[in-house]
Amino acid sequence: MIDRDRLAALRAAEEERFLATHPRSAELATAARGSLLAGVPMPWMTRWPGAFPLTFAEARGARFTDVDGIEYVDLCLGDTGAMTGHALPAVAEAIAARATTGLTTMLPSTDATWVAEELARRFGLPCWQLAMSATDANRFVLRFARALTGRPRIAVMDWCYHGTVDETLAVLSSTGEVIARPGALGPQVDVALTTAVVPFNDLDALDRRLALGDVACLLMEPALTNIGIVLPAPGYLEGVRAVTREHGVLLVIDETHTMCAGPGGASAAWGLEPDLLVVGKAIGGGVPVAAYGMTASVAEALTGPMLGHEIDVAGVGGTLTGNALALAATRATLSTALREEDFAIAVPLAERFTDGVAEVFEQHSLPWTVQRLGARAEYWFCPPPRTGAEAAAAGDEELEAYFHLWALNRGILLTPFHNMALFSPFHTAADVDLHTSVFAEAVSALLG
Ligand code: PMP
Repeated sequence: MIDRDRLAALRAAEEERFLATHPRSAELATAARGSLLAGVPMPWMTRWPGAFPLTFAEARGARFTDVDGIEYVDLCLGDTGAMTGHALPAVAEAIAARATTGLTTMLPSTDATWVAEELARRFGLPCWQLAMSATDANRFVLRFARALTGRPRIAVMDWCYHGTVDETLAVLSSTGEVIARPGALGPQVDVALTTAVVPFNDLDALDRRLALGDVACLLMEPALTNIGIVLPAPGYLEGVRAVTREHGVLLVIDETHTMCAGPGGASAAWGLEPDLLVVGKAIGGGVPVAAYGMTASVAEALTGPMLGHEIDVAGVGGTLTGNALALAATRATLSTALREEDFAIAVPLAERFTDGVAEVFEQHSLPWTVQRLGARAEYWFCPPPRTGAEAAAAGDEELEAYFHLWALNRGILLTPFHNMALFSPFHTAADVDLHTSVFAEAVSALLG
């Protein structure tokens, strides 16, 4: 259906336009190659559209400006790290106040209990711990789950992503074996030994795998968001809870991205009953912090080990974790953002986005679709996938690169790796409509 030569020509023109309009970012990217591996501080920063990543100068609310003075509508929002909107004044004040009164001491600060109580109120789990990142929180939870159950394996969904946790970087091969996810570099251990992998939306497969009795916990997002949005089929999550309970497997819900569903994530919105819950990224308003909550019975079972003399070498740690800066930023964020009233603005904007994109598909009779989860939306070049493997197979790098670069060249930043847009209370209907018209132009140019 897509004329690939036409696509390549359009993309080449967009690449030229990008080079011509970003001379300062180009200079900085060239200089960076002298001292930074591949010219970037983090490997995935090479994956932005265009020949080099933009260097940003300032970000506020739903917008940022690059070093060439161009302003963008930010639909990436730091891949959820800035879901609140950038540079919240309350967070800036809390950071500044803490910076002059001490940032890290290894002692609890006065904000710690407030943060835990607020997380308990939002997510319905009574007991909390802090971590530096959602990756760390997941790693810690997996250790605790093994310690509690005495079982050797963890289970995850096929094509999940939970951060750089080695044992979660696993997928099912075409013959159903657990293998390392393509791209995983230098894994610590063979994932076939650590991990059970099941397809999303497949209760029978989950039941069969957990029945083997060797799985400590199932770690999952309530909707996959890292291979595009894959929504749970009706009844699936209730089934997951029943099956995990039946087999004595702890259910860990990772709400790091699905917090876009509301102030208490999808767990609160959909009445889920996890044993443990992980949340990260957005809760610090941009400051690195994550947290994990647990039921009273998990907390009770963990209290013994937590009070053990050797807890400092338990493999659950981080000297700067739970520091005063992170807690002050989290308190400021949770008291002024990601509340009902904020979602009441952001979610309708995501709805407006899906309506606009769906209309473009209809106008051109394209069999493409757009999905939404709360304030997050994503378009697909196919019908909505039901599993991670279907989603992975639907990826089209050339098409995605074209749409991303077309949007960037017209002042819109999409989330890299897939076609995701995230909305904050600072976005406006005009921002959404700008995307819709830019996207419609890109589709028209492509179809000729
Ligand atoms: N869990 C989920 C669901 C995520 O999407 C991510 C990152 N995209 C993480 C955990 C890891 O977060 P971080 O990279 O901040 O550790």
